Amino acid sequence: MNQVIYLDNQATTPVDPAVLEAMWPYFTEKFGNAASRSHPYGWEAEEAVELARTRVAAALHADGREIVFTSGATESNNLAIKGVAEAYRQKGNHLITVSTEHKCVLDSMSFLEHQGYRVTYLPVSAGGLIDPAQLAAAITPETILISVMFANNEIGVLQPVAEIGRIAKAHGVVFHTDAAQAVGKVPIDVQALGIDLLSISGHKLYGPKGIGALYVRRKNPRVSLTAQIHGGGHERGMRSGTLAVPLIVGLGTAVEQAVANLSAEAPRLRALRDRLLEQITGRLSGVIVNGSLDERLAGNLNLAFAGVEGTALLMGLADTVALSSGSACTSASLAPSHVLRALGLDDELAHASLRFGIGRFNTEADIERTSAKVVEVVNRLRELSPAWEAHLNRQAVASS
Ligand SMILES: *Cc1c(COP(=O)(O)O)cnc(C)c1O
Repeated sequence: MNQVIYLDNQATTPVDPAVLEAMWPYFTEKFGNAASRSHPYGWEAEEAVELARTRVAAALHADGREIVFTSGATESNNLAIKGVAEAYRQKGNHLITVSTEHKCVLDSMSFLEHQGYRVTYLPVSAGGLIDPAQLAAAITPETILISVMFANNEIGVLQPVAEIGRIAKAHGVVFHTDAAQAVGKVPIDVQALGIDLLSISGHKLYGPKGIGALYVRRKNPRVSLTAQIHGGGHERGMRSGTLAVPLIVGLGTAVEQAVANLSAEAPRLRALRDRLLEQITGRLSGVIVNGSLDERLAGNLNLAFAGVEGTALLMGLADTVALSSGSACTSASLAPSHVLRALGLDDELAHASLRFGIGRFNTEADIERTSAKVVEVVNRLRELSPAWEAHLNRQAVASS
């Protein structure tokens, strides 16, 4: 009972036992190279890869020939963005994205800016959503790519993907979405949503780390991509390198399992999330929900706690629950999260924010223990906090 509760499922998830079970034989007795055409070891590996490809495609309402396996969503995003930028260079040099994208999208965009491309970074509302009218207004004859994430990894906010798809189609611009947090969490139909490129990550949906995929539309329109990794011409020339057969098998199983369980799992996660929110806000004042609560992944909650110091808050919780804060600890400096800043939070509130990522293996008991601990630690920190004093004084003035 004293194990630390894992509530960081937007950072990564454990491999589901059934996924691991499916992968096992492909490390040992079924170890063949999927590109070996001359013997049964190769045929067996290829068959497993093609089954996984079919499963990933089916989950998106796509065709198997539209799935390219990569090392993860970081690589998929790099391939989609740089691959389109190169392939469509004759058509134009303008790309559109959003200020709250994952670092790997923003850094790919900034790389392209150094190569002479022009990038528009759309702002978001206080709820974290883009304004589709603003997107439409940003499109020029030079625009070759719109890249907008499906679900945000920090605040879980779901962008209006169907509307973005319609706008992209109407202007003949390729539409890429980073769906690392969305696949297996919300229903996705690339046809209905007008998505041309879509990135997937294995370890965000109870599959292994180091595997992902990119959906690449083959018709209406056929999307061209310039390969970013050259070699043996695997994956229709779009991504060379010996296929990671066990990981691909794991990805296929994980995607199929997540999509099959989605309609039961999403309401369960939503109930746990709502319970957590109710338990915390029922017992603490000065708590702000970061990002829209309506347009949001079922398992995500992101809260700002006025009048507490972020690092002290995380440290106080560390023996009970594993969480992420609103600090971008990927960099050496403890910068506030660019996503929370984009919502309009000041540095202090951004640092004093917690991301609760509820997942498949969390229970109601986890939620009860977590909320009790959060309330206890926040109250303790606020007792000593001049910032909380100041917050209360501001409130008293505002209401007088
Ligand atoms: C985790 C994540 C990525 C990176 O995925 P990897 O498979 O770890 O490279 C990209 N985008 C989003 C939204 C993510 O959550």
